[in-house]
Amino acid sequence: MVPKYKRILLKLSGEGLAGPDKTGIDGNVVNKLAAEIAKVYRLNVQICLVIGGGNFFRGAKNATADMDRSIADQIGMMATVINALAMKSALDNLGCPTVVYSGLSIPQVCKDYNFSNAFQSLKDNHIVIFAGGTGCPYFTTDSGAALRASEMHCDILMKATQVDGVYDKDPRYNPDAVRYETISYSVVLKQHLNVMDMTSIALAQDSGLPIMVFAQSAENSIVEAVCGLVKCTIVK
Ligand code: UDP
Repeated sequence: MVPKYKRILLKLSGEGLAGPDKTGIDGNVVNKLAAEIAKVYRLNVQICLVIGGGNFFRGAKNATADMDRSIADQIGMMATVINALAMKSALDNLGCPTVVYSGLSIPQVCKDYNFSNAFQSLKDNHIVIFAGGTGCPYFTTDSGAALRASEMHCDILMKATQVDGVYDKDPRYNPDAVRYETISYSVVLKQHLNVMDMTSIALAQDSGLPIMVFAQSAENSIVEAVCGLVKCTIVK
């Protein structure tokens, strides 16, 4: 297989690391995902990874009414660090050297995010996992992914979802829904299409970063997506 991109940022949701109950981490699921990412690595693609935290905690959704949003979001960001460490371990075990940079400072467990160091790690052929989101509350890991992909000059931000792209209507309820092959940032923003949150779309637009929305369902879907072999929507 021939990769279409030289440097990617792959955004996985936290739930993607969980087992059937959609919570916590299932080691077998992580190992399977890592094996797919290793295939991409062996095609000599430079890989940045952002993993959400929704399998443990989503700030605004899981907080109680009396919990400050900032604290709830800090819990969410720490969840992303847990996921990053699990994925690092699985990738290292497969012989893919992986380094975790965190937007939150937790020096005993991972490196503090630093642009130059992270960029160098990428050039040294390490898989770079960006944990802790942006390090700031009121953002999501989608926004963190758009930010780090812009900083690392990635060719594309690949957003793995349950759906194989962006549709004009919700395909779960509308059998006649049509998938866009490509769509502009401005249409996504104007129509509030459910691709990623609006902050991340605006940031991607600003830095000219294309976004691929694809389904992470079948085995090999990630490596096939990197090679341009899957159904998807490109936001550009
Ligand atoms: N979060 C945050 N700032 C960031 C990134 C994430 O505060 O820059 C928090 C926020 O509470 C979010 C949680 O971390 O709900 C987990 O991230 P997300 O919901 O994006 O995870 P996913 O849905 O992709 O699993």
